[in-house]
Amino acid sequence: MKTYRIGVLPGDGIGKEITDANQLVLEVTLEKAGVLAEYVHLPMGFEGIEKEGTPLSQATKDQLDTCDAWILGPHDSVSYPEKFKQERNPSGELRHYFDLFSNVRPAKKMPKTKSLIEDIDLVIYRENTEGYYVDRNMYAGLGEFQVTPDVAVSTGVFTRKAIERIAHAAFKAAMVRKKKVTIVHKANVIRLGSGLFLNVCKEVGENYPEVTVDDYHIDAMAAHLVRRAGDFDVIVTENMFGDILSDLTGELAGSLGLAPSINANETQAMAQAAHGSAPDIEGKDIANPIGIMHSTVMLLEWLGNKHDDERLKDAAKLMEKSIEATVLSDIVTGDLGGSASTSSFAKAVENEVRKSEQAIIGHN
Ligand code: ATP
Repeated sequence: MKTYRIGVLPGDGIGKEITDANQLVLEVTLEKAGVLAEYVHLPMGFEGIEKEGTPLSQATKDQLDTCDAWILGPHDSVSYPEKFKQERNPSGELRHYFDLFSNVRPAKKMPKTKSLIEDIDLVIYRENTEGYYVDRNMYAGLGEFQVTPDVAVSTGVFTRKAIERIAHAAFKAAMVRKKKVTIVHKANVIRLGSGLFLNVCKEVGENYPEVTVDDYHIDAMAAHLVRRAGDFDVIVTENMFGDILSDLTGELAGSLGLAPSINANETQAMAQAAHGSAPDIEGKDIANPIGIMHSTVMLLEWLGNKHDDERLKDAAKLMEKSIEATVLSDIVTGDLGGSASTSSFAKAVENEVRKSEQAIIGHN
């Protein structure tokens, strides 16, 4: 039986607290599901600077290359020493280095939490490697330059290859959801770049005749989401638009602090909560670990699909169900109005996993 190798990079701020909480639940879940796993702790952020002289070393990237998947904590890169601020931040570097082209960001209301839109249940497929992200849209050098102190030029890069693969990922997801894809762009103004994005997505859509396709300009889409997010299912868009829209949908679903994501290509995936390192609450054992836990659920699902391993798919369901049961029994952290600590929340989820009758033996 395969042993899955899972990397864990705790990172900065609340990173250690939330990844420790997540680890407790992950280990018992995989044990219960009969999945063999080994965990590789890797330094990132201040831990990397301290131990290896850099926030993300080549040795860490080499180790990640030997992993089946990994869990990335948050980084506080704005606080790094000046020389590291010139480099890509750890998350951007990992997306770029491993070509994790697809950033999948679901937005769904959790039970017992307040949400601005009750029936929201959508997922954003954000292209993760090019667009207007000037620190990663070039083979070498930066995609922006300053002509004079008063003139700056920043480029957007759009390629058929990158658009095709994110569009396929979105349409495949739609096939197992509500068979509906919405393309978000600004092709009326950015006629070439955004126009290519729109046209290539439509072309890819022709391979999925069962899927209904519509498209909106990014500005109109922001308004539609506030008004009627429940009408959308799979949204595909370029890097920057996806970043902005997913903050909006995360907040519409309840709290950005709960929003999960994975970054994936065909062979590797990285779980990453949408929130940052929250240095203001570091070390207080009050951070909410649900974002990283749900990201880990997505990672298990992704791994389960990739390896066609029912045990992993069961593990994902078990972990999700146990988080939900804990929230339903009113054990939640302060940001959701409760009094649980990070560690006591994790302990409660662990108990839910242990007592679950979802017997997961018998898949061979
Ligand atoms: P970044 O630029 O890295 O995304 P940020 O400063 O914009 O970071 P966060 O670090 O996410 O944003 O913090 C924003 C606010 O949300 C802070 O007040 C922080 O304490 C709170 N917050 C973020 N994550 C959590 C969490 N998991 N649990 C509780 N509160 C959180």
